[in-house]
Amino acid sequence: MRTVYLNGEYLPETEARVSIFDRGFLMADGVYEVTSVLDGKLIDFDGHAARLQRSLGELDMTNPLTRDELLAIHRELVSRNGIDEGMIYLQITRGAPGDRDFVFPDPDETKPTVVLFTQNKPGLANNPVAKQGLKIISVNDIRWGRRDIKTVQLLYPSMGKMMARKAGADDAWMVEDGYVTEGTSNNAYIVKGNKIITRALSNNILHGITRAAVLRFAREAQMDVEERNFTIEEARDADEAFVTSASAFVMPVVEIDGTKLGDGTPGKVAPRLREIYLDESLKTAI
Ligand code: PMP
Repeated sequence: MRTVYLNGEYLPETEARVSIFDRGFLMADGVYEVTSVLDGKLIDFDGHAARLQRSLGELDMTNPLTRDELLAIHRELVSRNGIDEGMIYLQITRGAPGDRDFVFPDPDETKPTVVLFTQNKPGLANNPVAKQGLKIISVNDIRWGRRDIKTVQLLYPSMGKMMARKAGADDAWMVEDGYVTEGTSNNAYIVKGNKIITRALSNNILHGITRAAVLRFAREAQMDVEERNFTIEEARDADEAFVTSASAFVMPVVEIDGTKLGDGTPGKVAPRLREIYLDESLKTAI
C-alpha cells in the first residue's frame, strides 16, 4: 500500500481523508503539478515548484510550503514508496470552509489542502509507445480562458481523451479559431525539415515545463525553433509531429485525423529530442 502525504502527515493511502466541503471537490478550486522520477530522482523539480507558485498566485492562494519543504516531501514519498521510475502528483486546493459558498473563504480561517502521492511506473523512460508513436485526432478547444493556470479542472481534457479512444486514436489535439492550442495533457509540435514549430506561450495554453526544456535543448542542438500558431492542415502535411509532458517526455505523433505523417513511423527529430531530453534532464535531476 502506498504512503501518501496529506496536510503535514504521511499516511497509508486508505487513511488519507479530505472533507466533502473541500473546494477542490466542490468547485475544482485547486492546482496541481506532476513531477517525474527517473533513477529515483526528481526531473525538473524547480520548474514545477516555480509554476506551482505562479498558479497559486494567479488564484490568490498562498503556498503553505516553501520550496525546500516541498522538495523534502517529494523525496520522502519517493523513498517511502521505493519509486525508481514514476511520478509524484501534488495538489493544493483552497481548502474546506465547512460549507458550500461561491465566495472564497478567509485564508486565515480556511487552510489549503495539500495532497501528494506517488505513481509507480517502471519502464517510464523506455516506454515502448515512443517507438510506435501516437495517433491523434483534433477536437474543438472549449476550455476556459486561463489554461496557463494548472487547475484540477480537467473534465474537458478527459472527454477529449475519450473522444480519441472512441475514434481508435490515442489522444486529441485541441483546436481554437482554426489553430492547434495543445494536446489534452501535453504541448503540441510539428517538424518541417530542421524546424520545430509550436504555439507561443499565452493564457491559451499551459506553459509546459518539458516544453521549456525541450526548446532549450533543441536550440542548443542548432535546430530552428519557431513559436507560432499552426493549423491541423499544416500539421497533417508536416514531416513529423510530437508532444511533450512531464510524464511522456517527448512522444512522437505518427497520425493526425487519419493522415499518416511520412511513412507513419516516428521520424528522426522527435526520437532524437526524446533522447537528448532524457539524457540532459537526468544530469540535473535532484
Ligand atoms: N498542456 C496541458 C493541457 C497539460 O495538461 C500538460 C501536462 N500537465 C502539459 C501541457 C505539459 O506540461 P508539462 O510539460 O509541464 O508536464
